[in-house]
Order: sequence, then C-alpha cells, then structure tokens
Amino acid sequence: TGLVVAMDGPSGSGKSSVSRGVARALGLRYLDTGAMYRAMTWWMLRQGVDLADPGAIAARCGEPLIVSGTDPDSPAIHVDEVDVAGPIREADVTGAVSVVAAVPEVRARLVARQREIIGAGGIVVEGRDIGTVVCPGAAVKIYLTASAEARALRRSAELAGSTVRAQQEAMARRDTIDSTRKADPLSMADGAVELDTTAMSLDEVIAEVLRLVAE
Ligand code: C5P
Repeated sequence: TGLVVAMDGPSGSGKSSVSRGVARALGLRYLDTGAMYRAMTWWMLRQGVDLADPGAIAARCGEPLIVSGTDPDSPAIHVDEVDVAGPIREADVTGAVSVVAAVPEVRARLVARQREIIGAGGIVVEGRDIGTVVCPGAAVKIYLTASAEARALRRSAELAGSTVRAQQEAMARRDTIDSTRKADPLSMADGAVELDTTAMSLDEVIAEVLRLVAE
C-alpha cells in the first residue's frame, strides 16, 4: 500500500505512542523524524560544535550518517553505526535539539533522508512538518494537541525523577522555538484533522485515527 499517515504536533501530544499503535494495527512502517533531529544534535554535541553558531552547525551537518529503522515494535536509530536510541533521549540532547533543528541546512538534509525512507509509502510518519513540508500529499494528516499540563504530565511519567513543573517549562521553551523559527515552523497542514487528546486514552486516540484512515 502507498498510504502515508502524517502525524504532527507539539512535544508530549502523544505522537509516538499513537503513531506506533496505528502502524502496528495497519501493518505499516513507522518513522520518527524527531529521533533524526535528536541524532544530529547528539553528534553535534559529541563533536563539540558551537551550537550558538548556526553557520558552524550548517557547515558540519553533512558529516554524520544517520540511519533510522522503521519497525514500530523496535524503533532503531544509529549515527555512524553507533546505536543512539538511549542517548538521544537524555536531557543534554533534549535541551539543544530545537536550536539544531532551526538551522535550514539541517532541515534540508534530514527532509531529503525522510523522503527517501518514505519512498512509495506504507508508513506512519511523526514530526512537526510532515503534513506541511515532508509529505504534503499524505492521504491522512493528523495534528495532535493536548493541554500544556497533560503534555508535561505524560513526559514526566516517561522521565523518572523530573517534576511536572520542570517538564512544563522545558517543553514550553522547546515549543516556542519550534513554532516561531523561520524554517518550517510547527503549524497545522492544509487538510489536517486536529485531535485534542487531553481527555482521551491512548486506545481511544488510536481508534479515532484508524477511523479517519478508513474514511
Ligand atoms: O518529537 P521530538 O520531541 O523527539 O522532537 C525533537 C525536536 O526535533 C523537536 O522539538 C523539534 O525541534 C525537532 N523536530 C523538527 N521537525 C520534525 C521533528 C522534530 O524540527 N519533523
């Protein structure tokens, strides 16, 4: 099947769990584009690239080889053959990723890689710009939202030891950068269906997306 489901929205809106659940239910592949921006950021930090200098980020972003798996049951991500699935979720990467993702050269490279992976389709793709930039022709476009509090709660449940308030503040900072940057800011795509998941369970959201796909 050539189906592409584009799943966009801010952090903590439930994109990953929903996307993986939908891919599993439909036997589709799954691509986490956020993991690719995180992998690029992990590499930049390790190389000691000055993240205050967009020119330095742009100059080096062609060097790392970022390889993403597409199995919804075991999402895999490697940089130069190093498994970075764990490290890309650490606080240093999370704190820096929005700055790296705002650099147009980084976006151009990763978007090109994403389009290669999407290929002929049969995939659920999650990110911030999938319905607007990466795959505007996607048959189904979902824009997931949830209240700031619900999103912070979900994130801090994933990250033991972090307070809800600290999460909410860090997430608000990241969302502000993501939605106000010049290059492909987070926004709702033409034809996207907005789903507010604040009061919905994961299973309910997945069921609603499956219903939209079947329409
Ligand atoms: O989805 P996740 O929280 O892992 O994304 C990490 C960061 O990567 C986002 O905050 C955003 O800055 C960037 N990103 C992006 N475009 C995408 C996916 C993620 O700019 N398609």
